[in-house]
Amino acid sequence: MTRKIYVTTSIPYVNAEPHVGFALELVQADVIARFNRLLGREVCFQTGTDENAIKNTVAAAQQGLPTRELVDRNSQRYRQLLIALNISADSFVRTTEDRHRIGVHALWQGLDPHDIYVKGYQGLYCTSCEDFYSEKDLVDGCCPEHGTKAVKVDEENYFFRLSAYQQQIEQLLVSSKVQVVPKTRLNEVLSFVRGGLADFSVSRPAARTKGWGIPVPTDTSQVIYVWIDALVNYISGLGFGSTDKWTQWWNDDIEKVHVIGKNVWKFHAIYWPALLLSAQLPVPDCVVVHGFVTAEGRKIGKSLGNAIDPFGCVETFGTDAVRYYLLRAIPAFEDGDFSIQRLGQLYQTDLANGLGNLVSRLTALCGRANFGAHEFTGVPDGPKDYLTALDRYEFDKATAVLWNIITDLNRQIELAKPWELLKRKDLGCLRERLHHWIGELYRLAYWLGPLLPTTSSRILEIFSHPEPRITSQLFPRLR
Ligand code: ZN
Repeated sequence: MTRKIYVTTSIPYVNAEPHVGFALELVQADVIARFNRLLGREVCFQTGTDENAIKNTVAAAQQGLPTRELVDRNSQRYRQLLIALNISADSFVRTTEDRHRIGVHALWQGLDPHDIYVKGYQGLYCTSCEDFYSEKDLVDGCCPEHGTKAVKVDEENYFFRLSAYQQQIEQLLVSSKVQVVPKTRLNEVLSFVRGGLADFSVSRPAARTKGWGIPVPTDTSQVIYVWIDALVNYISGLGFGSTDKWTQWWNDDIEKVHVIGKNVWKFHAIYWPALLLSAQLPVPDCVVVHGFVTAEGRKIGKSLGNAIDPFGCVETFGTDAVRYYLLRAIPAFEDGDFSIQRLGQLYQTDLANGLGNLVSRLTALCGRANFGAHEFTGVPDGPKDYLTALDRYEFDKATAVLWNIITDLNRQIELAKPWELLKRKDLGCLRERLHHWIGELYRLAYWLGPLLPTTSSRILEIFSHPEPRITSQLFPRLR
């Protein structure tokens, strides 16, 4: 295991308010960052916003706003989402920042000159994906993901010689030098690569983007394709092109992990490593791919108007309850549904009745038995299955392991009938039990830190006192 780890989310485009799908990605990446800090590793965790996409100019025009104003406002909302979800990011990069433009230019100019050429191009283009489609991949002429009509585009672009990297990319994937998690996703990526990698267009006419975006350094009539631009955030945010600091977090001695959604693996597991190879820079070590979040059983679309508002959920249920739902009820790598009703149920059963009840019972018993719990300090052994699960990015499984312990402890307490021990004044026996239970709770609370950080520190706080006392319920009754 390397001493240092660099973790990123993808950067969402900011044409609308954040939705709960991106909340999932933030929370997953945050768990990786917090877990590794707990293990004593040095961590850099970066997120940010993608502001150069044409989608942003389209959305701004629809709302009658200057693009700059729209991206400023919405980028700010994403920053607020980090606070709402208690995301421990160390770095936030906006692609409209100077340092990012400098980084993108530095990468473009660092590419092997043989890999860039100009070509006339005709293609079918989805402005939502900002990507070209072949006729056969479209559904009735529409984008398979967005259902909107693909536009016929005829223009002259710069191209990147991706075809030259097919074997190297395949080798990186097969050898796990670039790991793709889960395995099923790796197989999908590999079969795409083996199907043949075509060169792809890496610029757009500036006229079409109305000048929005980062110009090609040597040709201002073209702007750099937003996906190239966006990928560079992973190093521009570290200072690539401006200072040498970026090498502290992007070199071969550092584990570099990208957390992304299943719709963008082509860019992260193929285009990005190829660009880095061309520029003779280190490639990422791991691409962790989550599924899509549906809202109340239906696909979330910013345009479909059924996006669940993550801020509203946090306001009603609290940060840690929303984190719990995203980690436990959404499978780590598959699609999952976000349902407010189900969130309410889990709040009651798992959080209030499960963990909340365990903590309040044990504090009450400590008081009655005069048991001081403060002797528990230091780093307790992590439950083995939990450690393994987080090592494999199986967030749902790791959370389930801790909740099995909670269920088990609650059952042990019921069976031991501590209130009868109290009545019989069998304090010796009760204290012995309490010693075991609170030791277990301490261990549980400690390792809960990466998942539900606030709840974890509150429990550790309660039991760090000679006379543990709860000042307010961990999971109060919902109004
Ligand atoms: Zn599309």
